[in-house]
Amino acid sequence: MAPHVVFLPYSMMSHLTALVQIARLFAFHGLRVTIITTPRNTRIFQASVDKDRLVSGRSIYVRTLKFPSGELGLSEGIENLVSATSIEIAGKVHYGIIHLLQKPLEQMIRQLDPDCIVSDMLFTWTVDLAEELHIPRFSFQPTNFFYQCVRHCLTEYTPHNKVDSDSESFAIPGLLHEIKMKRSEIEDYFKEETYYGKMVKSVIDADLRSHGIIHNTCSELEPAYAELYEKIRGKKGWHVGPLSLFINKLDEVKSSKGIPNWKDSDDCLSWLENQEPNSVLFVCFGSSTKFSNNQLTEITLALKGANFPFILVVKEQQDHHDDNNNKEMLIKNDKCFIIKGWAPQVLILKHRAIGGFMTHCGWNSILEALTLGVPLIAWPLFSEQFHNANLLEQLGLAIRVGGADVWNSGFIVSSPVVSREKIELAVKRLMYSEESRKIRANVKLMAETLKGATEEGGSSHSHLIALIEEIKRCAIKNST
Ligand code: UDP
Repeated sequence: MAPHVVFLPYSMMSHLTALVQIARLFAFHGLRVTIITTPRNTRIFQASVDKDRLVSGRSIYVRTLKFPSGELGLSEGIENLVSATSIEIAGKVHYGIIHLLQKPLEQMIRQLDPDCIVSDMLFTWTVDLAEELHIPRFSFQPTNFFYQCVRHCLTEYTPHNKVDSDSESFAIPGLLHEIKMKRSEIEDYFKEETYYGKMVKSVIDADLRSHGIIHNTCSELEPAYAELYEKIRGKKGWHVGPLSLFINKLDEVKSSKGIPNWKDSDDCLSWLENQEPNSVLFVCFGSSTKFSNNQLTEITLALKGANFPFILVVKEQQDHHDDNNNKEMLIKNDKCFIIKGWAPQVLILKHRAIGGFMTHCGWNSILEALTLGVPLIAWPLFSEQFHNANLLEQLGLAIRVGGADVWNSGFIVSSPVVSREKIELAVKRLMYSEESRKIRANVKLMAETLKGATEEGGSSHSHLIALIEEIKRCAIKNST
């Protein structure tokens, strides 16, 4: 019988979507797969998994565990960071998933008696369980090698401690290119002890004890850093990205149904039909970024000032008190379409009318744009996004928004407001400057390269097949 692999996705859109994609690929290649999550999260992927099982006959199942909303004092249905409207709620969701669900998850995994666990990197406890059950544990890292190398070099050489102020630049030793950063751009855990820093450390420790680490990236995208990463970590990195390219082959995304606000989204696709090719700027900052109203006003004025058609996606805001300033936000006309809520990002990026994408540099957004040949405006905000933006700049794939140089500790943006002039300048540079020709050409080339990586003989394709073989080999070894 084929080996049985249990998947544990973390309740955050970017992590969850990617891990479910790996689960579906494993099932496609003949492994038996069970995904464990909470009921509300299943809505995000149940249809595709059901189709894989019922239509294509694959062995892929979903098991659910009740989310401890009552214990956390949360309303029913808030089980994913995407539903969190404040840092406090996000913290509770995280605590519920990582700590309160640990015992029931352990119990369910024991009952399922799998041959292998593929767990989001944040479920560090799965490494102990896997050791106890004598099965391999693979950790899933939803980021790139470059970031992992930078993190290592910052920890090792602490160049940020050798400058006098937050705004002074320093070079990061140990990397393969000269990368300069300001202290204000790096995560706070490099500068002081934080909960997140402790979590990062325990993720690294658990990864080192794991059988392997799976990455949603590929060596063609960052060849030098794929090698440096393995040297630093002393562990083979299984890179199987961009996952969306593999998944596109399994099923073409045709409808945005099932996504919150899909009616608006379909409207927006019809709106795109009336726009010229490559003329529209798509502006979206990931699944949960929330700007202040002041910053949103600057963004809208900049987009209008640049005078290109645009789609702007905004998430529910914190500071409702000055909503009056933003009445014009909720409009749709020839030049702009504003979505408050969830946008069908991949469908939008795929549209021929899209000529650029302003992004917060979440890794999934970057990969989605690059695989579709869409050039980027990088406006990093939190998490590892400043490093992702540096990688994009290094590869000549993006224009940076000037003045966006303060890291935020979470998805609620409190960094100094970036002026409309700076935003407008970045838009104009990408949408009609001479320099953007080169960026567009680089992005087109990258799209081809990424496609090649996921085709037979490409590095990600080979890694995926080798990874599946490795799991089969471990299962046979364990059964004898
Ligand atoms: N996304 C989407 N619609 C939205 C916002 C986000 O479809 O309105 C998707 C996007 O396509 C990507 C993911 O959510 O797959 C966001 O992941 P990313 O790593 O870019 O950022 P994060 O949300 O983790 O900050």
